[in-house]
Parts: sequence; structure tokens; C-alpha cells
Amino acid sequence: MTKKPLRTSILAAASAAVAALGLAAPAVAATDSHHHHHGSSSCRNGYVGLTFDDGPSTTAPQLLKALRASGLRATMFNQGNNALAHPELVRAELWAGMWVGNHTFTHPNLPGIGEPQAFQEIASTQWVLTDVSHRVPTLFRPPFGATSEQVRADASRLHLLEVLWTVDSRDWAGASADEIVAAASTLKPGGIILMHDWPPNTITAVPRIAKVLADKGLCAGRIAYTPNNVSGAGSTFHAVAVRP
Ligand code: ZN
Repeated sequence: MTKKPLRTSILAAASAAVAALGLAAPAVAATDSHHHHHGSSSCRNGYVGLTFDDGPSTTAPQLLKALRASGLRATMFNQGNNALAHPELVRAELWAGMWVGNHTFTHPNLPGIGEPQAFQEIASTQWVLTDVSHRVPTLFRPPFGATSEQVRADASRLHLLEVLWTVDSRDWAGASADEIVAAASTLKPGGIILMHDWPPNTITAVPRIAKVLADKGLCAGRIAYTPNNVSGAGSTFHAVAVRP
């Protein structure tokens, strides 16, 4: 029975110290830490865009489970062929609170295949995603970040915003979970990180990404248009992460 009095006296001493310093008791602190990953007050430094390309893969349910458990929302840039093979996984992404974007039908290098093939790659994916999700995607990511004036014109004809990235996790090149987390920790407010929905290390990294973002006062946001020129992926684009 020594625990309670001791604890009470520590609390009393702490209160006295706070009072002595003339500080108001931090009434919001408890709420703040309780909603560490979710509360808007933890987003004091803004939003970042988490993106996962090339899905939906068969491991998408595991990725979605990890994201939900960590209180993270992300943008999934799906391929039309994968969406057609697994329409239920596209719907699962939306149900899990994710945003779904267009990543072409077969993942070609768009400037390399020319027209009308490049336009058809994007347009057919738009039809498939709209059909399976009953939502029209507004975001587009060219495979490999390979774009051109013609590709941008194709995207804008379909009312799609081209989204590149400001940070490359290099998960596609075999980065370790540590390296993926380290990449995420370099995100600046508004920044967008490239990840993929298939590497096992990426799924492992998700809870740790949630922690580094929370520690920096950043939250996962949705991606929107900005008139500013954003540099990344060897190009300039007009997308930024904002409050969902
Ligand atoms: Zn890709």
C-alpha cells in the first residue's frame, strides 16, 4: 500500500512545481497524447502525402490493415490491369479511407510508347477505376515518373492532376524498412513520398512511418492542386499534400 501515497505525492509535487513556475496546467495534453496519431492538434506542422503505386496487389489487404492500425490515410495509384483483376481490392482501399489514383493500365514508359497508346493507357484505367469504385479518379501518376508535355496534355484532357513526388523511398529498389522510414522522416510539410503496395519492407515500415510523422507534428493528408512549382522526380509538378 505504499504505491498510492507515493504516486499521489509525486503528482502533488509536480503540480506544485507547475504552480511555482507560473505555468497553466496543460489541460489539453492528455487529450493530445490520447489522439496522438489522429487529433488535428497533432498536425501542427501540416500534412504529407503517402503514396503507394502499382496495386492493387494480392498483399493490398495487409498494407491496408497496417495503414488503418496506424491511423494513416494514403493515395493508392492503381494500375488498370490490377484493378480489373481485383476490383474488390480497389473497393477495399476506399473503404479503408484511402484515395485512389490512376497509374496507367499496364505500367509503360508513356513518353516512349507515343500516341494514341499513351492516352489509351490512362483513359482505359480511368474507365476501369470509375466502373469498379463509382468514383472518378482525379489524380494521375506516370509510371517511373516519366512524363512529357504530351503526357501532361493527355492527363489534363481527362481532368487528371499529375502527381510526382518530393521523396523517393526506393522501396522498389529493395530498400530496407529502416531506409524507408528514414526517407519518410525527410518529408517536409506538403511533401509527397513514393512507395509501392507490394514490397514486404514497405508494409513493415508503416507503423514506424506513423511514429516519425507524429513526432514531427505531421499528418497524412490528401493530395491536391497547387499553383506553385514543386520540384521532384527530376521534374516540376503542381501537387501538394493538404488536410483531408
Ligand atoms: Zn509504378
